[in-house]
Amino acid sequence: MKLYISTDFEGVAGIVDWDQIMVGSHDYEMGRRLLLGELNAAIDGALQAGAQTILVNDSHSSMRNLDPEQLHGAASLLSGKHKPLYMMEGLDSSFDAIFFLGYHGSIGASHAVLSHSYNPRAIWEARINGEVVGETALNALVAAHYGVPIALVSGDEVTVEEAQRLEPAPHGAIVKRSISRYAAESLHPTLARERIHQAAHDALTMRKPASAPTFPRPTTVELTFLTADMAEMGAWVRGVELVEGNARAVRFGGDDLLDLFRTFVTLVMLTRGLVE
Ligand SMILES: [Zn+2]
Repeated sequence: MKLYISTDFEGVAGIVDWDQIMVGSHDYEMGRRLLLGELNAAIDGALQAGAQTILVNDSHSSMRNLDPEQLHGAASLLSGKHKPLYMMEGLDSSFDAIFFLGYHGSIGASHAVLSHSYNPRAIWEARINGEVVGETALNALVAAHYGVPIALVSGDEVTVEEAQRLEPAPHGAIVKRSISRYAAESLHPTLARERIHQAAHDALTMRKPASAPTFPRPTTVELTFLTADMAEMGAWVRGVELVEGNARAVRFGGDDLLDLFRTFVTLVMLTRGLVE
């Protein structure tokens, strides 16, 4: 069995502030130990469930948050910036299952610690086929394209609830309860790791989803930016159009889900140039 793990950071137990998860920040070393602890627990659980090949894609910020020496020896590591498929780089149809580890709620969710949707300084809201979505559903476009089931999502309860709107719903491991965007009540790291270890095992055995996520085709993605300038710039990309009546929103759609995700990544990268 071949497993793909995309790791974010905000959804790890004990994490409540950017100061714990950005390279060079005060509590970063502590934060990355917490992330690694949950990741290695997930890998252990997956191995016990029969996983043989495991690829970890470090997907948060600089995308070099994981110490290669401390990563579980059974996994290989994809890290570093400028990955064409970003949080989903490295996935292809040879994989049997996906884990989203340490994920977080969408930018508009209430009581969701460190909530955002890719870029909190550019994207105000993302929708797929009219429904407000976060990173789990956006990344699920790639999973759907390659036909790989999303077996497990870990994070706070908002993240898991958002992820379980996918069809079919992934198994969830809740490791904290968000109080606000900068406060949460977390399990002790030891307990969080035990919960993730068990959930990883179950997600690949008795709770394994029957199929990859599905989206009605054609699929439409709509992004609302913080400023009209960002939307204007987004509409320079072929296939992307401004939404009538909303100067801050763009829309693009089609049947090719990988193509939609690539367009989304292009818009994320492009609008970075307008963030002050
Ligand atoms: Zn992140």
